[in-house]
Amino acid sequence: MNGQHLLIAGGGPVGLVTALLLEPHFDAITVLERHDGGMPSSRSLQLVLGERGRHALRCCGLEQAVIDRGLWVRGRENGAGGGFHAYDEDGGRILAVSRVVLQQLLEEAVDTRPGIRRLDGTAVESVDFEARTVEALTRTGRDTWQYDVLVGADGVRSAVAQAMLGEEEMTLHKMDLVYREVPVQDPGWSHEAFRYWSDGEIMAGSFPGQGGQRGLFVMHPRGMEQDLFDEAKLFTRFPSLKGLGHGVLSALKAAPAGAMGSKHCSRWRQGQAVLIGDAAHAIVPFMGQGLNTGLEDAVALMRQYRSRGRAGHEAVLERFVRRRQQPAEAIRTLSDRHARHLLGQSTVTEQALEERSGAALRSMGLPDTYASCAFSRTRFDRILRREWRAMGMDAPVRRKVA
Ligand SMILES: Cc1cc2nc3c(=O)[nH]c(=O)nc-3n(C[C@H](O)[C@H](O)[C@H](O)COP(=O)(O)OP(=O)(O)OC[C@H]3O[C@@H](n4cnc5c(N)ncnc54)[C@H](O)[C@@H]3O)c2cc1C
Repeated sequence: MNGQHLLIAGGGPVGLVTALLLEPHFDAITVLERHDGGMPSSRSLQLVLGERGRHALRCCGLEQAVIDRGLWVRGRENGAGGGFHAYDEDGGRILAVSRVVLQQLLEEAVDTRPGIRRLDGTAVESVDFEARTVEALTRTGRDTWQYDVLVGADGVRSAVAQAMLGEEEMTLHKMDLVYREVPVQDPGWSHEAFRYWSDGEIMAGSFPGQGGQRGLFVMHPRGMEQDLFDEAKLFTRFPSLKGLGHGVLSALKAAPAGAMGSKHCSRWRQGQAVLIGDAAHAIVPFMGQGLNTGLEDAVALMRQYRSRGRAGHEAVLERFVRRRQQPAEAIRTLSDRHARHLLGQSTVTEQALEERSGAALRSMGLPDTYASCAFSRTRFDRILRREWRAMGMDAPVRRKVA
């Protein structure tokens, strides 16, 4: 391990957790982050973490700190009535935590480690995989970094992925829906439940936050802003939101609209560079597993380094990719399907899986698919296959991954 340098593109949660977990295996780690302080605000204010994400934080010694700043959520409540529906018959809970708070905690943890250096305001522009160099635009101009290993944790629009993959090797699927979220002061909704409203076209939802501070998000088709917010049709569709007052409509209209979609990359590695987190496999947010999956990647990469023996970096990274591609593909399938279910766009088979697989799995003494994803670390591809088997069907042919 002589003078080995790990370069991480992207100082989001996956990049920072990767830095913390891989610190013992490198002499120096540099994290290049495009943003110069602050975070983009077009995504959710709250993130929910299940067992996968919490386990990664546990491995960094940060789980309790995040729990202390989050709120446990036991189930969901339909805002239009219909009562409380527990996520898990065995009492499993997910942890809702502010995205900004999580980011701050991770940055603080990284800044205490002498082996890790964070460089904000540094946007990766290109990678030379032969020479193992990265060129980035910094506050003062352009600079070049040499790496032994490069981890591309630079999110869905990853510059590392762009440099690594041809057009035919990467698929980005954008939904017609956009996402907006604004903070709302305690409207008196349960602090233990995710509250949601859906009419098949539009979905609104709210996770509880500490001190009664919650977010209210709305997912709606592009171009509907005037109808929903100026003409207050959001309240016509979901009358129980009226109590929030008209101010929430103008706030929602002014909030940045974030795109939602998924990303598939057929290859995640080139030489000693590898993609991880959203850079490799973004998913639609309906199962709340995007970050959980990215953090699980970071743990998987750490494991490969722990059991490395005499293997070179390429072999270690390749093992990581082989271990993670199928689970990432499976949670993408599950999340897409769940999105279609919530939006009333399921096929007949999907409808049956969404509505009946839970009972079929429970009759076999197994948790349902949501609970397995959120409260266990069972591989997502195993969960998917198990569900199809419980319904007496053959799982769909697996998408080919390199
Ligand atoms: C509306 C919404 C709600 C969600 N809710 C949940 C949830 O509840 N639970 C969950 O598990 N997941 C959720 N997700 C998914 C989650 O946000 C992502 O999976 C997660 O943020 C991915 O982390 P990451 O570190 O891989 O990427 P990012 O969070 O995107 O971080 C990438 C970082 O790289 C930086 N970067 C980008 N380009 C460059 C460059 N060229 N050079 C240097 N730095 C660069 C970015 O500035 C950023 O800091 C949600 C997503 C959305 C859109």
